[in-house]
Amino acid sequence: MPSLPFDVSPLDVIGDDSDFVHLDYAASAPCVRAAADAVQDLLPRYGSVHRGTGVRSQTSTLAYELARDVVAEFVGARPDDTVIFTRNTTDALNLLARALPPATTTVHFDGEHHANLLPWPNPLRLPAPSSPDEAVTALKLALDGLSGPAVFTVTGASNVTGEVWPVRELADVARSYGVRVIVDAAQLAPHVPVDLDDLGADYLAFSGHKLYAPFGAGVLAGRADWLDAAEPYLAGGGASAAVGDRPGDLTWATGAPRHEGGTPNLLGAVALAAVCEALTTVGRPELRDHEQRLLARLRDGLSRVPGATEVSLFGPDHPRVGIVSLALTGHDPAEVARRLGREHGIGVRAGQFCAHPLVRRLSGTGRTGACDDGVPGLLRISFGLGSTEADIDRVLEALTAVLGTVRT
Ligand code: PMP
Repeated sequence: MPSLPFDVSPLDVIGDDSDFVHLDYAASAPCVRAAADAVQDLLPRYGSVHRGTGVRSQTSTLAYELARDVVAEFVGARPDDTVIFTRNTTDALNLLARALPPATTTVHFDGEHHANLLPWPNPLRLPAPSSPDEAVTALKLALDGLSGPAVFTVTGASNVTGEVWPVRELADVARSYGVRVIVDAAQLAPHVPVDLDDLGADYLAFSGHKLYAPFGAGVLAGRADWLDAAEPYLAGGGASAAVGDRPGDLTWATGAPRHEGGTPNLLGAVALAAVCEALTTVGRPELRDHEQRLLARLRDGLSRVPGATEVSLFGPDHPRVGIVSLALTGHDPAEVARRLGREHGIGVRAGQFCAHPLVRRLSGTGRTGACDDGVPGLLRISFGLGSTEADIDRVLEALTAVLGTVRT
């Protein structure tokens, strides 16, 4: 599938999908060659990480720790940061939520994915803003009104609208109050560089399966002090440095092992790191330009599809990644998505995308049809590496055909 006009072979999407158009990257992106090659290379040689003296175990330990180093470089980890391999973004944010110092308030907007909305023990939820300026003002106001310790968490890019949040501006505000910043980079990392310092972030979380690696591995990167002081996320082998004879007589490990109890997902971590490395080497400006060209083509075409209205929080000119959601006037988005799959071989997604408060707000009463569960929903088209102009043209054509015939 040579789709990009420059050499990105480590980032070629693998698989033979000639009859199927995958436009649901925001849920899970397809796997690229770099990840597949890394797994293929290790499959015949792996053993248990950190456990054995045999050559397989040593190779695996080396590969796992190398993967951590690669990810550390990918996120611009600082000397006082730890990189922890998790299962995914949800896992990473839950881990961090349990590591917050007691009585910490977590300030966030309600435009977040549930993974960044639900784990926080003491949340202060602000209504999603309509502009970056409004976001900054609302955050300042909220932090002015807080007296105890707080953190601020925000998504890098919305999984619903694709809009890039003004992370740096918000982070500058938070940090001027001495408040640490958490960035949910699940949708940002696949599209733009995610450097902790550039973002103004103290913590960053993302998932391998949205970053062109297979499922099962994610990352939490950030300041080690809270993580080292917290109870281990998973108590067990690896998380413990020394265990005495009596219950409670033990010393927990520090650093990443403290929160990586049990046998780690070596293949997942190695695949994820291989993509991080490929993305760093290949040159992101070209990838971004390609994606932005597709985005412009899609949005231009959608503006001529009757019954489909693109939704946004910050307005149509605000920067976004390769994600567009549509309100479908008088149509059931779930039925439209099903027909795109069944009749046109196109995979998109309909519903609320695990962001119920945001989708409710963007759907607006009467602006979009209800899905078959009766809840208002949107139709989402998302793409990335391996997507082509032909894919975009095909979904535009199919959507026009389906919307011309489906009514609820
Ligand atoms: N945050 C955002 C912005 C997401 O889009 C998603 C996945 N849709 C998540 C968090 C959760 O990711 P995962 O399911 O990999 O844990």
